[in-house]
Amino acid sequence: MILPSSNAQPVLPATAAEHTTLQARVVWGDRVVTIGGGAPVRIQSMTNTDTVDAIGTAIQVKELALAGSEMVRITVNTPEAAREVPYIREQLDRMGVDVPLVGDFHYNGHRLLTEFPDCAQALSKYRINPGNVGKGDKRDKQFGQMIEAAMRFDKPVRIGVNWGSLDQELLAELMDENSRRAVPWESRSVMYEALVTSAVESAKRAEAMGMKAEQIILSCKVSGVQDLIAVYRELAKRCRYALHLGLTEAGMGTKGTVASAAALAVLLQEGIGDTIRVSLTPQPGEARTQEVVVASEILQSMGLRSFVPSVTACPGCGRTTSETFQELAKQIDDFMRAQMPLWRHRYPGVEKLKVAVMGCIVNGPGESKHADVGISLPGTGESPAAPVFIDGEKRLTLRGEHIAQEFQQIVENYIERRFGQVDVAAAVDAPANPASVA
Ligand code: SF4
Repeated sequence: MILPSSNAQPVLPATAAEHTTLQARVVWGDRVVTIGGGAPVRIQSMTNTDTVDAIGTAIQVKELALAGSEMVRITVNTPEAAREVPYIREQLDRMGVDVPLVGDFHYNGHRLLTEFPDCAQALSKYRINPGNVGKGDKRDKQFGQMIEAAMRFDKPVRIGVNWGSLDQELLAELMDENSRRAVPWESRSVMYEALVTSAVESAKRAEAMGMKAEQIILSCKVSGVQDLIAVYRELAKRCRYALHLGLTEAGMGTKGTVASAAALAVLLQEGIGDTIRVSLTPQPGEARTQEVVVASEILQSMGLRSFVPSVTACPGCGRTTSETFQELAKQIDDFMRAQMPLWRHRYPGVEKLKVAVMGCIVNGPGESKHADVGISLPGTGESPAAPVFIDGEKRLTLRGEHIAQEFQQIVENYIERRFGQVDVAAAVDAPANPASVA
C-alpha cells in the first residue's frame, strides 16, 4: 500500500462558498422570514390555482407550506383576484398556516396595488417583472407606481426578469450598441447582458426612488442550465442584492428535476442564491408540492439545510433479486416524511437523522454503520437474517416475516430516545410551518 508522504495535505470536505448579500425581511403579522445576508437558503413555491377561488388557493398554499415552502407566491392578475387576496390571508391565519404570501404581478400590478390597498397590505412581498410593466414612457411610470406601493406598505420586492418576457426595448438598444462594436458579441451574450442589465438597472431605479437596497431581491430566470449559470455568475458579480434562484420552465418529471438540480447545485456551491424555486410542470395527477420536495432535496443533499431524516438505500443489483429492501426503504422514507409535521416539534433535530436500508452484505453493513440506524437485508443466497446497526454498532438481527414493521419500530424508538425531550402538548399546538421562522 502506498501511504501519503508526511507533508501531504488532508483532503478536506467540499463546502459551498460564501457570497454576501443584503438581507431582505419578508414579514406577516409578527412573523418574519429573512432572505440573504447569511440566512439559510429559503424555499419558495407558487400555486397554480385561480386566485379568485380563495378557498382552493388557501388549501394549496397550506399544502405547499406543510411540504416545507417558506414563502408561497400567488397570481394576482385581475381586480377579482386582488379582491380575494385578503380573504386568502385570513383563511390561512384561521387554519394556522404560518407562511407569507407573495403577489405575482404582470402588466397591471401598478393599478391593482393602488386600487386594492387591502391586497397590497395582505401580501408580504411583490414580484415585479420589468419586462411586463408597460412600454415606452409608461414603463418607468408604472414600475414607479409599484415601487411606491411597496414603500408605502413597507414590503420587499423581487425584481424578476425572465427571458421569456425580457424588456424588448432594452434588448434592441443593446443589440444596436453591439452592432457598433469592432468585434460584436455573440447574440447570446447580448441576451445575458440584457437580462442582467434589466434587473440591476431596475433595482437602481427603485433605490433612486427611496427603496431600501436590502428590500430588493433580484432574479434573472432562463430555461437552459448553462445559460442560468452564466447569467447568475454575472448578476452576483454586479450587485449585493439578495438573489432568488430558479430555472424557469424547467419542465416535467425527471427532466425538470435533473435540470433544476444541475443548475442550482453549481450556483449554490458558489454561494450564489438566497432563495430557490423549482419550476416543475406537474405531471397529470402529480401533487403541486413536488416542486417543494425537489427544492428541499437539492438543499439537503448539498448539506446546506436539513428538512427530513434521510434514507440511504443502495440501487440493488443481481446480488439481491427480491424487492424487499426497496419496499422497506420506501416505507421508511414515506413514514418519516408523513411524520415530519409533528416530529419537527416533538423531536427537534430529527431532520438530521440518517437511516440506511441496504440490499446485501457487500456494502450493507458498511453503509449501515455510517448511518444512525441501518439495516442490511439478506441478498440472494445469504442466510435470511438482517443485522441492524445503531450508532455504528451491530445491535441485533431481525428474522422472519415482520422485519419491516420491526425495523420501523426500532427507528421510532431510536428517535424517541435521542430526540424526544419536548412537551408534546406544546408541540401539537405549535404553528403549521415552523420553517417559516427566520
Ligand atoms: S449493497 Fe449489495 S445489493 Fe445493494 S447494490 Fe451493493 S452489491 Fe448490490
